[in-house]
Amino acid sequence: MQRAAILHAWGRILRGYSPTMSIEITTRCPLSCPGCYAYQPGHLDGVPLTSLADKTGSDLVEGILDLVDRERPLLVHLVGGEPLVRYRELGELLPRLDRRGVRVEVVTSAVRRIPPEWASIEGLTMVVSIDGLQAEHDARRKPATYERILKHIEGHRIIVHCTVTSQMTARRGYLEEFVRTWSERPEVRSIRVSFFTPQVGETSPEILTPPARRRAVEDLDRIRTKFPKLLANRGMLDAYLQPPRSPRECVFARVTRCYSADLQTRVTPCQFGGKPDCANCGCVASIGLHAIGRHRLPAGVRVGRVFDASLRAGSAIRSVRTAVRG
Ligand code: SF4
Ligand code: SF4
Repeated sequence: MQRAAILHAWGRILRGYSPTMSIEITTRCPLSCPGCYAYQPGHLDGVPLTSLADKTGSDLVEGILDLVDRERPLLVHLVGGEPLVRYRELGELLPRLDRRGVRVEVVTSAVRRIPPEWASIEGLTMVVSIDGLQAEHDARRKPATYERILKHIEGHRIIVHCTVTSQMTARRGYLEEFVRTWSERPEVRSIRVSFFTPQVGETSPEILTPPARRRAVEDLDRIRTKFPKLLANRGMLDAYLQPPRSPRECVFARVTRCYSADLQTRVTPCQFGGKPDCANCGCVASIGLHAIGRHRLPAGVRVGRVFDASLRAGSAIRSVRTAVRG
């Protein structure tokens, strides 16, 4: 299944399209999480996210569909701000994307109820951000508290996404307790772990020191066979310790086109915007694809080299297509 998805994405790259797209569908969010990258001043190259046009209604729905029809991604991440602020528009948009065969991941705090009817949209995955055990999470992400999340995910099968901060690595066993807590929930289909990714020069207390990062990776290694819902394989553990050194080396950044709320402004070089500190990156998507890129094919060639050549070919085709269309 995963092999089929990779081949499909590869075909898209060869034709000059990015297989993945990320869209910040609103500038609004009722949370104010410490360390949130979306509202940092450098996120959009000096333009605050909140100054962009915040589309609503059919402007938003048709705007996203136009973008998707033009860029032809296989997978779209809808992020924020908080996407559920636009739940009415999503109620119209998600089934239409599903009918186009586009897979969608909505990344949410679950600050409000996920509409029950979304559970039957086949290509939709709800990814709920839960950052630590209840005491720490509730302090960081009020009003999207544990109590609310548990009510709001009822009837759904979600992916839990946890961003590990330095504070969570201070106590041995913390990650295990977190993964056990959410593994036991029937609503949870899998658990993804990112490490907090700073901007270059950032000094926030969330940043993992090198020893804290190693401890977190050791913890993941120790528990990964105990909890099958946890996404963590050997290649990913190596990649957490040696992430891509720059956006140029980052497969995820290179295959993902990121747009902000006006559906025109690009977020570069990756979804974090600004000047992300790749050496301290812990984004699970970047880590997962970096691990695949480092994998050697039977001929001894790294997947990443094949991928580089494919991207160059795809980029040439994209240039020709753009020139032909004028
Ligand atoms: S929920 Fe997301 S967008 Fe909103 S403040 Fe928290 S990290 Fe930022
Ligand atoms: S996802 Fe991580 S490695 Fe990739 S460009 Fe962004 S910060 Fe760098």
